[in-house]
Amino acid sequence: MDDNFNFPYENTEDPSWATLFEMAEHFEEPEAVSVYDAVDFPESSAENERKYETPEAALKGLFGYDSFRPGQKAVIDSILAGRDTLAVMPTGAGKSLCYQVPAVLLPGVTLVISPLISLMQDQVQALDEAGVSAAFINSSLSESTFSQTVRKAKQGFYKILYVAPERLLTERFLELTKSVSISMVTVDEAHCVSQWGQDFRPSYMKIVEFVRLLGKRPIISAFTATATEAVREDIVCTLGLLNPYTLVSGFDRENLFFQVERPADKDRYVLDYIAEHAGESGIIYCATRKNVDNLFALLKGRGISVARYHAGMEAAERKRMQEDFVFDYKSIVVATNAFGMGIDKSNVRFVIHYNMPQSMENYYQEAGRAGRDGLEAKCILLFSPKDMVINRFLLDHKEMPEMDAADRETVRERDTQRLRLMERYCYTTECLRNYILKYFGEHPEKPCEDCGNCLREFETLDMTDAAKKILNCVYEAKGRYGKTIIIDTVSGAKTARLEETGTVNYRSYGTLASVSKNLLRRLVEQLLLQGYLTLGAYQVLKLGDIEALQNPETRVLVKITDEDKHPERRPKAKKEKKAKGSESLTAAGYRLFAELKKLRLEIAREEGIPPYIVFNDKTLIDMAAKTPASRQEMLDVSGVGEQKYRKYGKRFLSLIEKCAKEDF
Ligand code: ADP
Ligand code: MG
Repeated sequence: MDDNFNFPYENTEDPSWATLFEMAEHFEEPEAVSVYDAVDFPESSAENERKYETPEAALKGLFGYDSFRPGQKAVIDSILAGRDTLAVMPTGAGKSLCYQVPAVLLPGVTLVISPLISLMQDQVQALDEAGVSAAFINSSLSESTFSQTVRKAKQGFYKILYVAPERLLTERFLELTKSVSISMVTVDEAHCVSQWGQDFRPSYMKIVEFVRLLGKRPIISAFTATATEAVREDIVCTLGLLNPYTLVSGFDRENLFFQVERPADKDRYVLDYIAEHAGESGIIYCATRKNVDNLFALLKGRGISVARYHAGMEAAERKRMQEDFVFDYKSIVVATNAFGMGIDKSNVRFVIHYNMPQSMENYYQEAGRAGRDGLEAKCILLFSPKDMVINRFLLDHKEMPEMDAADRETVRERDTQRLRLMERYCYTTECLRNYILKYFGEHPEKPCEDCGNCLREFETLDMTDAAKKILNCVYEAKGRYGKTIIIDTVSGAKTARLEETGTVNYRSYGTLASVSKNLLRRLVEQLLLQGYLTLGAYQVLKLGDIEALQNPETRVLVKITDEDKHPERRPKAKKEKKAKGSESLTAAGYRLFAELKKLRLEIAREEGIPPYIVFNDKTLIDMAAKTPASRQEMLDVSGVGEQKYRKYGKRFLSLIEKCAKEDF
């Protein structure tokens, strides 16, 4: 890099989320180099402009998809009609296509403002593969690559230019905007403009000023997965959207299976799960770096193909680990929440949370990295009450610079509330999918019949009498002790700790000796959920509002599972999952699928790109089922567009032909 030209890091002005969410590293990958801005100038982008006249044609030709997903077409039409547009769609719904397709059809260039370097690289790479000329401008570029990108942009070479928000008001970028025709400004991850979102980034506030400085006001489109009303209003106001068309699409991800487990031994659970799902690609999220290191060592020691990722590692090692996972050299990655932003790996079959995350927003985003190819995938949260302690600690130590005391207090309150709702997800016995959808403002009508809770057989116990005994014990303890001591006391445990605290002398001591401790824990959780008990500082139990219990009609009902009675047994699902994905192939089809995957890996390694960028699993499965024998038949396979056909079509066709001859 030229010494005279010193790019600041992208995140210098940005506070809070860096520390707690360990995301800072994504803004500072100075070693990242773009390979897409090749020195020679390949064919002109004008070709694309002429080629596609309708969104459908562009969708098929560039990306190889036959139909739009729900919501996409409406957003694209609104943009093409010249209207400002706000789209709220869940992670994985396909927001990128909603601005990429119009960008190709509109004259001039589309600027995409995006907060994360890794995200930009991934997108530009995918666009490059699809045959759309795109580039990015951020702090990872060397001076010479930067100049070259600017030069090509001025020549009208790009249809899409990704830019970090910090770059917008720099002199050189503003100069560039004078000599290109900007049709649209797209703001990705638009919730970053909102103080009430969890990823507030002050640099996003510059966007509206930037737009004002442009000669002609372009169309503005904004995209986010965060759906709360407050955040949505902030986006419209802060970005200055004019009478925007707003689309909020369904948050349901039908192919994801949600499950909450409370295993006594999380390590054992993870090992068993991996053994039962050998070869599947998965992410295991842990709350702390230490957990990541421990679990990684454990899995590696068992000979499991595993990578590791957290912000405490050297940048080079992190990068290598990420690539090992993305390129399918390693099937599993154990990581903190620093991992995954902008990684669009489509064939992730499971996301296990080793610890409970801090909010449903975090959880749904992280879990949502499973099954992006639309095939079935599992999202399993392993909960233990200790997770609450870890998260409270993290929230108490969250740094919030650049905020005044009142703002800080509000943010803290919101964080605590979010954490509480996250905890409730772990305890609920209702449909998990509905819990999530309700959280994001939807009104599902009936249970999904396809999540861990819906498929679990619960038995309902009336534990009103036991509840009263626990409340008596809490009363006697006068808010001094936590769950463990209270439960031990009513169970009549004989421990030194109880002697020391004197709870052995309580009237409630031993009154519930016949009830299993596991059941008592369930009951205490239930009492907390219903507000009969509350938690004070240091997790001590206090009496809540118990008035309703004065009424003899009031019952305390606890739903329990077989596991609660026999914690050593593994849970059984009521019905077998329906087969989808590769299970739908015939035996011969499956063998062909395996061969196609080998070829994909070969190509990916030759080109130094992730396998799913060549073709994703869904495409290969479709190919194995359809066994195309001609160009036209190959183009009928979902996910095969013109550009990809030109690049890889022949090799896959001849492999399919060869396999057919060998009478697979
Ligand atoms: P988001 O930004 O909403 O989280 P992405 O734009 O990254 O999601 O898209 C997720 C995945 O869905 C990508 O692999 C993309 O290629 C795929 N996808 C998007 N639209 C379609 C479509 N109409 N048909 C099939 N796959 C699609
Ligand atoms: Mg996106």
